[in-house]
Amino acid sequence: MAKPWLLSELTYHEIKASLPEVVVLPFGATEPHNLHLPYATDTIEADVIGSAICEEAHKRGARVLCLPTIPYGTETNQMAFPFAMNLQPSTVQLILRDLVQSLERTGIKKCVILNSHGGNAFKGLIRELYGQTSVHLFVCNWYAIKEGYDEIFEAKEDHAGELETSILLHARPDLVHLSRADDGATRPLRFEALRNGWIEVSRPWHLLTTNSGSGCPHRATAEKGRKWLDILVDRLATFLVELSVSPIDDSFPFEPKGTK
Ligand SMILES: [Zn+2]
Repeated sequence: MAKPWLLSELTYHEIKASLPEVVVLPFGATEPHNLHLPYATDTIEADVIGSAICEEAHKRGARVLCLPTIPYGTETNQMAFPFAMNLQPSTVQLILRDLVQSLERTGIKKCVILNSHGGNAFKGLIRELYGQTSVHLFVCNWYAIKEGYDEIFEAKEDHAGELETSILLHARPDLVHLSRADDGATRPLRFEALRNGWIEVSRPWHLLTTNSGSGCPHRATAEKGRKWLDILVDRLATFLVELSVSPIDDSFPFEPKGTK
């Protein structure tokens, strides 16, 4: 049975009958994830989370549609590893601009970019598009949502750690080989200002990690992955429902004029 919240499963017949109010555009990546998770980890996460949040929003009455996931992202700092399939930020910008133009021609006004990959930086990209399109763009870096994280997970997440491994154990256990994983140890930065995050740098991943993993995956479980997905789905579906019914008036996305 076709899922009515996934464009890839619909026909023109359904789209002709009714356009969605909100679309979700997921971005993944193709890159190594320690020795135990597949190259498509970020893409699988984008697929799973994109579909699940749109399904839940659909069940709550929202007119939402999830687009197919872009399976590549920016990998300039992982390129010492084989098959870290890079799109330069300027290329991602062109892809986003072209897809947003297609949405605009379709008559869509609200688009949520669902980003699964830390190497993609969409905030600057949507700033560049601001004023050039009538589509309102929103960005969700779902891995950056921290509220409630410490109640489920023990290790800090960075790349192929406890969080990502738990999600894959839940969604695609057939692709996880946890016994192969190293412990995700990382080399410390030389400068205090960098360690504290006062100064940022694009970290060369082959110097930071041993096998591309940053963060310990060994306490990951499918149950932790399911719990975290439940939290994400509830939060993000709530947003999609609110966005779906919100009129685009003069003060969108702020409260209407006259509201205290
Ligand atoms: Zn990842």
